[in-house]
This record gives sequence, structure tokens and C-alpha cells, in this order.
Amino acid sequence: MSATAIAPRAGTSSGPRLDIDLQAVGRNTRLLADRAAGELMAVVKADGFGHGAVDVARTALAHGATRLGVTTLDEAWPLRDAGLAVPLLSWLNPVDADYGSAAARDVDVAVPSLQHLAAVAAAPGRSRVHLHLDTGLARDGADPASWGQLCRAARRAEQRGEVEVVGVMGHLACADEPGDESNALGRTRFAWGLETARAAGLRPRDRHLAATSATLNDPRAHHTMSRVGAGLVGIDPSGSTRLHPAMTLTAPVVQVRKVRAGTPVGYGHTHRTAAATHLGLLPIGYADGLPRLASGRGQVLVRGVRRPVVGRISMDQLVVDLGSRGIDQGETVTLFGPGTHGEPTVSEWAAWADTIEHEIVTGIGARVERRTRPVPHLRSLS
Ligand SMILES: *Cc1c(COP(=O)(O)O)cnc(C)c1O
Repeated sequence: MSATAIAPRAGTSSGPRLDIDLQAVGRNTRLLADRAAGELMAVVKADGFGHGAVDVARTALAHGATRLGVTTLDEAWPLRDAGLAVPLLSWLNPVDADYGSAAARDVDVAVPSLQHLAAVAAAPGRSRVHLHLDTGLARDGADPASWGQLCRAARRAEQRGEVEVVGVMGHLACADEPGDESNALGRTRFAWGLETARAAGLRPRDRHLAATSATLNDPRAHHTMSRVGAGLVGIDPSGSTRLHPAMTLTAPVVQVRKVRAGTPVGYGHTHRTAAATHLGLLPIGYADGLPRLASGRGQVLVRGVRRPVVGRISMDQLVVDLGSRGIDQGETVTLFGPGTHGEPTVSEWAAWADTIEHEIVTGIGARVERRTRPVPHLRSLS
């Protein structure tokens, strides 16, 4: 987000609002830390999955996490700026990233190729690195065909004092489906990667393969550390464990109108009212992260009752069929929350949009006011 992005100042907006419950994050962290055999790394990439990276990081560290993880180095700096001094790993950077600053600010970096290793070794300072093996996604991480060479080159760089290899990491493609045979293959490939690193003379003390799903459902993938992101904010991709969702999205009804049966609604007239009814207008749309694919499927909670989103979701607004009784203009309705009062959940919105919860929580736009409820005993820290 650019510094000039239009975002409401806290407490000034009477528009859509996202409430973030850090107590839920704390409870989720505690559960995940209890399940993990080793240390727990709180993954706070993408602004803590849209929940606020520094807030989620601080909360997780107070509830059992001992480390932090992010994708890019640019995501690492604000955590250091906020005074969070725990071990911090960044795993996806271009070859020409600022590895000198990473070493200077004590940020570990993942190394997926010989080119990355050369860049990290050439940078000022002695970088702590985690060699990253592709254990089955054909995505980030080193191709197994180049792994032996990468391990031997890393050992030489270590002997020259240019790097310190503190970790080896992998990632599972199908951990959300515990029965999938690719998980055994990924675990085997990771074990082989560790053997190969050892044979090259490396002694990585952090060996990590599991993210949220495998932390919850596959102890064989735990090794010395788990990297969890989704689980912190209440998402279990494997559906095995009840976690606590941490977001509630509300919006005011800015207009209510009475319409006749057969009234067409919204762009393309994809909906016509079946009967005389009241339509409520919400000032929130796909630019704010409500997926257009959920048009005609989504629901919101109005005075304790679910009401359907009708017609297309537009960029800035959507229409809800309020039924025969209508409501007052200015009343607040709930688009999603933990589900404890009958409101839709992020999981339902994801289903309505043919996507996963991650995409919903990371997609809430900058125009939505954010309010964060701290964990009571952590109030002084945040
Ligand atoms: C995002 C990410 C994680 C966290 O995964 P969750 O399923 O959200 O816990 C862990 N490791 C890597 C490499 C990732 O990119």
C-alpha cells in the first residue's frame, strides 16, 4: 500500500469497519504451540493475513510462539522497527535483495539456489541462512536435482565465514488432505534433504516442514519447528480443528428503499425482487474485498436474521433484500464474524466465492476502517 493510499483514520469513519480480536489470535497460538513438537514460528506475511502484522506477531509471541516468519525482506523491517527482537526468517526474495541489511538487522534468509547463495555470501556481514528444498510443489525452494550441490556450496561459504547455515526448510503441497500420498513423498524428500545437508558437513539446528495443517494433523512432519500463519488467525485448511476466527466485518445501511415485486436490482439486472420488499444499500463492494463471485449467494446478518445479497456486488456497494419490515437507515449489519451470533463466517464467504478463507481475510481493502481489540494483559504493549 502506498503512503498516500486513502484509508480512514482510526475512529473517524462511519463506514465499513473491520474489528480484529487479538484474544482469538492468542488462543489459536496457544493451541498450535501445544500441538507442535518443536518451536512455533508465527508467520505474519501479507500483514498478518490481513490482521495487522505487528499486532499478530506481538500477540503470538506472548502466547507460545518463539519466532517470526515473513515472505519478503520488506515485510521483515517493520517487525524490527516495532522492536520485535526474536529470530525472524524471510523466505522469498530476488537474487538482488538487500541481504546486507538482512544480516545487519539479524534477519535470517532462505536460500533456494546457488545464485541466491552467492548473493547472500557476497553481501556484507555474516548471514544466517535456511537452505530451502522444494519438497513437492515445483514452486519456491531448490530443485532436488541441485540440492547436493547447493549444500556443498553452502558448506564452503560457511567455512569461509560468509554465511551460517542454521536451518533447512521444506513445504507440503497437500497437508490440508492428510491422506494424500504426496505428503509421505514430501516427508521422505525432506528427510533425504536433511541427510544430504548432513553429509555435506552442515549442522542445521532448525529443521522445518510443517505449516498450519501439518502442525494440526501430521506429527511426522513437525521436526524442530512449525511455521504457522493461517491457524493464528483462525483458519485450519485441513478442517480438523476448531480455531477462533479473529475478524468481524460490519457496515452501515446507508439507504433503505421500498420496492415493488419484479424490481430489477443492480448491474445487468441479474436479480428481480420476487415480492414487494425493502432493499438496503451497503457502502462496501469488491474494491473492499467482498468478492464479486459471491453476488447472489452472499448473506449478511440484519437484526439477528440472515438476509440475502441480491444482484451483483459492485465496486463500492451492494444491495441486501431486507424483507417486508425493512430497517432504519444508519443501522449496522454484519457481513461476517466468528459465527457466534448467527452471522456468516469467513468460511461461508469463501465458499460463496469459490475460494479459500485466506483470500477473503487478506483481501479486505484499505478503505475499510480497522479496529483492533488487544489482549487485555498485553494492552500496554500495543
Ligand atoms: C504461508 C507459508 C506458511 C504458513 O502456512 P499456513 O498454512 O498459513 O500456516 C509456512 N511456510 C511457508 C513457506 C509459507 O509460504
